[in-house]
Amino acid sequence: MGTATRVAVVGSGFGGLAAAIRLQAAGIPTTVFEARDKPGGRAYVYEQDGFTFDGGPTVITAPNLFDELFEEAGRDVSDYVEMLPVTPFYRLLWEDGLSFDYDGQIDSMVAQIEQINPADVEGYKSFVSYARKVFDAGYTELAHTPFLRFSDMVRVAPELVRLRADRSVYRAVARFVEDEHVREALSFHSLLVGGNPFDTSAIYTLIHHLEREWGVFFPRGGTGALVRALVRLFEELGGELKLSAPVKAIDVLDSRGGPKHRVSYGDESEEDFDAVVSNADVMHTYRSLYGSHAKAERKARRFERMSWSMSLFVLYFGTDRRYDRDVAHHTILFGQRYRGLLDEIFRGSALPDDFSLYLHAPTMTDPSLAPEGCEAFYVLAPVPHLGNAPIDWNEAAGPYAEKILTYLERVLPDLRQHVITRRWITPLDFRDTLGAHLGSAFSVAPTLTQSAWFRPHNRDSSIPGLYLVGAGTHPGAGVPGVVNSAKATAKLVIEDLG
Ligand SMILES: Cc1cc2nc3c(=O)[nH]c(=O)nc-3n(C[C@H](O)[C@H](O)[C@H](O)COP(=O)(O)OP(=O)(O)OC[C@H]3O[C@@H](n4cnc5c(N)ncnc54)[C@H](O)[C@@H]3O)c2cc1C
Repeated sequence: MGTATRVAVVGSGFGGLAAAIRLQAAGIPTTVFEARDKPGGRAYVYEQDGFTFDGGPTVITAPNLFDELFEEAGRDVSDYVEMLPVTPFYRLLWEDGLSFDYDGQIDSMVAQIEQINPADVEGYKSFVSYARKVFDAGYTELAHTPFLRFSDMVRVAPELVRLRADRSVYRAVARFVEDEHVREALSFHSLLVGGNPFDTSAIYTLIHHLEREWGVFFPRGGTGALVRALVRLFEELGGELKLSAPVKAIDVLDSRGGPKHRVSYGDESEEDFDAVVSNADVMHTYRSLYGSHAKAERKARRFERMSWSMSLFVLYFGTDRRYDRDVAHHTILFGQRYRGLLDEIFRGSALPDDFSLYLHAPTMTDPSLAPEGCEAFYVLAPVPHLGNAPIDWNEAAGPYAEKILTYLERVLPDLRQHVITRRWITPLDFRDTLGAHLGSAFSVAPTLTQSAWFRPHNRDSSIPGLYLVGAGTHPGAGVPGVVNSAKATAKLVIEDLG
């Protein structure tokens, strides 16, 4: 590889950083451009009044992906960050008072299911083995393999048909268990990657196996500590991270040695690269960054017609007391409606009156994230994206936050009088700060017809030297998804430039 070969990565989300590390480790000088003042993308960290709030991902699964990434660079991840196991994986709470500690251990899962509906015990055991088969077929080989040709899809089609990937997650689960609580407990996971369990392919039941196989972890110091570990590794390898460096436009120049991508960033800076890996939103990449390229707008119009994941309202708050025994590190509060509420979140044109919430209490695992005697939290409500529901979030956010805090008093007594600091993000932040199309929190929705070859490809077919990494490309959103996408994409870049 010629010494002049250089690659630009636009965006420092988990996908961008993981791709940059792989490229730099392969000897390709790599520069990461990040628009914000800190790296991490959706995993941005807010520090406020002595509290540390991870902005986004908190359920860290498949830690082996980080082991592998560091090994690729000849390092040991444990020298950079400590991963703490979290048990239970989730506490599930329903409004009728039922509580379920979901820990992935067959014995304890079976014991709890037996209490709810003994008839579902055998079905649960069959579901466990189904999820393993889906995992073997749909994850082990395919998650980090790019789907660039339709024939790649044809190759795996028989297996997908055999596993009934055309069914939704919920339908697949419902074949095994009948109690609605158990069905919700086994099907909510696709929401963590932006998929409605009633529309998302049953392939995503593999998450059940993935969590059982490797566990659920939380980095000491928060998810931000994992981001910092990646940045440290990248910089030790000689990579360059430019913060507060928004890329404004990229021009593709014809040159003798192949295409050159002229990256314009910041106020008036420009640099040329042999290839660009975009970790930015797919629509932003094609419409804003490559807007001057003849073929980009056609692609943008195609992607615009795809179905996009829902958005999120996330309220970060700290209390002046601890709540140790009231909730777990990860608690899901199911509302009275499941399917009806999800319908409104994914297709509705207004903010639903009720909600299902995910409550994050990181200080249950790492008290250093709040001042002594205090608790840090965030609560997340899935909400419609701006394309479906053009809500004025500047107006709606305050009352919505109040309504959620009031609701949480069911599990966190006298909560409102103990909240001493708070902030929130709404779909407007996803749109305006992260450049996310329609304010979607997870990019292109993970339905069967938008997966693998049908998803925006890891290597663009019409703009030479452009690659995608992150939630919008294969395999999709979620930390394991985007770290796998980095493996798929970096391999292509290294082969092409080599
Ligand atoms: C609130 C929340 C909770 C979540 N919880 C979990 C969880 O518990 N577990 C899990 O696995 N997943 C979770 N997810 C999903 C997961 O966080 C994301 O799918 C994943 O982090 C996305 O990574 P990415 O590589 O696609 O990049 P992103 O995180 O989307 O980062 C893209 C980066 O590109 C930058 N950028 C964009 N345009 C430009 C430009 N023009 N110039 C320079 N930089 C630019 C942005 O500033 C951003 O930093 C959660 C997501 C959210 C929002």
